[in-house]
Order: sequence, then structure tokens, then C-alpha cells
Amino acid sequence: MSMFEDLPVDVGIIYEGERIRGREMQIELGGPREDFKFELVQALALDEIEDGKMEIIGPDLPELPEGTNTPFGMVIYVAGEAIEKDLEGVVERRLHEYVNFIEGFMHLNQRYDIQLRLSKKSYGKGFNSFRILGDVLMRLYKSEMPFIEKISITFMTDPAAVEEWYSKVMEIYESRDARARGMKDNEVDVFYGCSLCQSFAPTHLCVITPQRYANCGAISWFDGRATAKIDPKGPVFEIPHGECIDDVTGEYDGVNDVIREKSLGEIERVQLYTAFGYPHTSCGCFEGCAFYIPEVDAFGVVHRNFRGETVNGLNFVTISDLTAGGRQVDGFHGLSIEYMRSPKFMQADGGWERVVWMPVDIKQRILDFIPPEMVEKIATEEDVASNEELRSWLIEKEHPIVQRWESALAEPTEEPGEITVPTLEMPAGAFPIQGIPSGMGFRIILKNAKIKAEKMVIKADSGR
Ligand code: SF4
Repeated sequence: MSMFEDLPVDVGIIYEGERIRGREMQIELGGPREDFKFELVQALALDEIEDGKMEIIGPDLPELPEGTNTPFGMVIYVAGEAIEKDLEGVVERRLHEYVNFIEGFMHLNQRYDIQLRLSKKSYGKGFNSFRILGDVLMRLYKSEMPFIEKISITFMTDPAAVEEWYSKVMEIYESRDARARGMKDNEVDVFYGCSLCQSFAPTHLCVITPQRYANCGAISWFDGRATAKIDPKGPVFEIPHGECIDDVTGEYDGVNDVIREKSLGEIERVQLYTAFGYPHTSCGCFEGCAFYIPEVDAFGVVHRNFRGETVNGLNFVTISDLTAGGRQVDGFHGLSIEYMRSPKFMQADGGWERVVWMPVDIKQRILDFIPPEMVEKIATEEDVASNEELRSWLIEKEHPIVQRWESALAEPTEEPGEITVPTLEMPAGAFPIQGIPSGMGFRIILKNAKIKAEKMVIKADSGR
């Protein structure tokens, strides 16, 4: 049943998770083919907003050619006695939910990464103006977040306007993120959980700590705190973290209790700062992924806007498919760019000393947060194009991972020529194996296999 009977399409929770394929779409707003796209919420004073005002800068839906994509920006201004700046990020993130409530409208990702699609079917039913989208959003925001007393929305499809705003909004995101830097996990008693993406990945829960920003890059610990206070029944809630079981991996008994409950028992434990064992789950909205490269026993990192192939020949979509879905997949770690600025970034796996490859534009964005001695040792797509080239690069640059290879070779195995691999559960698909040093003549390819083993022993082929 529709929430609003006077609109040309239904609006309701049943449409969340609806996918609109390329051949079904009337128009794509933003998306991977557009360099400039964004959504932004700004909190203003009550007297700075004309309630209900809508503006469209650029062509409206009927003027956009069917089946094409366009640059897109959306700025939402909100005001209310109880509204503070810390709420902007969470009010903004609710766009993901509200747009997806609309029949024939799909919303993916967040901030500067958004991809929205309107279906031909809903357009044909009369959803033919951004004003209808604005109307739905205003009604939902005011009914679901009653602390919003006034709201106005500006939509942009004019390419020059979107591009001009883009640099401004990137600065706003950066200053928002910077507020949460410097605080430590052990300085607080509570973390925050977000279950907003459970409609797409029912076993996923983001755990947001001062030193681990949400995977989507849209919610900091401060944002979580402000939201849980003002909207206690919403998807963002307090997690008293309880006893710290392991400070290095980032495991807490209170977090495990909540994860177990919210994933209906599917996920037993979560370790926040590792990609192995019990890694934090990923829904699919992450800004980027760290992925294990067994050939060099180290990690690459790729983000959503990287359009080429990573150093191991996989693109973002393939890596993302291996990571997403609320599962715990050894060697894959969904993450936000802001988490890469955290001193706890993958600390249990070796942190920056275990990172060997990333796209040049992420490297530039976080340059000031990479330890200076590592900057020149981490390769990009401009330096290497294959694992073989990467290996030579790491040796030439004296990357610390090279010492790790040497230590692994020096460690005695159970019998000469044998390597014991830790307990593994592998999902279907090609999969890296931790613990096999590179350059020893092993090649294991598992395709469409699901294997559970307590132990695996690999013997070097003696030729007999
Ligand atoms: S990625 Fe995580 S924090 Fe972001 S909306 Fe989804 S569940 Fe919430």
C-alpha cells in the first residue's frame, strides 16, 4: 500500500532493494559514467529556510533524453530547534532509504558517488518531474524525522552548476570528516551501529567507532551520537562496547553480542581492524575495498570510481561482488576512505606496511595520512600493471613486505617442502590463500568451489 495516494507511483518500504537495469531506465542521475554528482544536506537556522521551496537548475526529467545519464546534484536544506550540524551526515544518508521507497526509483551509494535511476515504467505512470521526487522527500523527512521543521531542496542537472558545486561539497565532506579525527576508541564507552543497509544485506551491520568511520563514508562516531540521541528508534543506535577482547584486532564482547542479535545469529564475532578471521561485514555501499594479493602476501585497495583493472587483473565490480552481501570473506575488507586515515587502519594485518597498491587518486587524497616512509613504496596503476611488475617494484623500493617474504621462507614447516595453511572457509569464486609465500612455484586456482577444511598441507612438487 502506498504511503501517499495522491502521487502517480507507489511509495513504500516494499520497493526498497528494487533494481533498475540499464534497459529499463528512463534516466540515470550521476553514476559511474559521470565525473560530477553529489547529494548534500545542510543544516541552517530556521529563519534561513523557506519551507517547501524547490528549485531545479538545468533540464527537468522530460528534457533529458531517454536511456541516458546526466551529471546530478541534490542539496537539501533543513532547519529545526533541535537540529545541529552533527546531524547533517545522517539526514543525508537517509536519502538512500527514502529514494529507494519510491516505486521505480533506485538509489545507490552516497555523497559524491551517487547513482540514481528512474524506470521507464514509473516515468510513464506520470513521475515526470524532480518536483515529485522533492515532494516525496519532503514528506518523508518531515514524517520520519519530526525534528525537521523546515526543508527546501535544490536539484541540479546543469553540467556547469553541478561541476561548480562539486568542489564546494567535497570541501564540506572533508571538514565534516576532520571533526572526528584525533579521538580514540578507548576514550569512549559506546560505539554506534547502523542497520540501514539491512534491506540489501540482511546480516550486515556497520560498527562505527571514533577510529572506524562507517563503510559508506557517510557516518562518523559524532554523527552516530547525534542521531541516536535525536532519533532513538531509527537505524543508528548505541552499542555499549563492553570488554575489549583484543585491542589489536578490535574485538569487543558488547559488539559481538549486538552483531549476533542483529544478524539473527549469522555473524558470531567481528574484529574491526583485520581482513582475516572475523572481518567487519560489508553491505555493498562501501567507498572502497582492501583486497588480499596472495602473490605478494599483501593488500591492494581500490575505490568505487576506479574504472580500470587493479594490479591483479580484477576490476572494482568483481572485487566488490566478492566483498559485499553481509558476509565475512577472508582477505576482503570493505572500507571508507576516511578509515584509511585512521591510525587503526588494518592494524592487525600490518597496517600501511602491508599495503602495496592503490589507484593514484586515492593516494593523492590521503597522502598526508600515509606514513612518509611508505609513500614511495606503494605502487599505483601508473607504476605497475601486473603482479609480476608489482613484485619487482616492491623489491626495488625495499617495501617492508619483502622482509615478510624472507621471514616466511625462513620459518620451518612441518616437514621440509610443506606449508601449513590456517583454517579456511572459502566462498565460491577465485580466492587468495593467506600464508603461501610468493615465488615458490605454487599456483592454486579454485573456481566456483566452496571448501571447508580444518587444515591444508601443500607439498612442493619434487618431480617424482
Ligand atoms: S554503509 Fe553502514 S553506515 Fe552506511 S548506511 Fe549502510 S549500514 Fe549505515
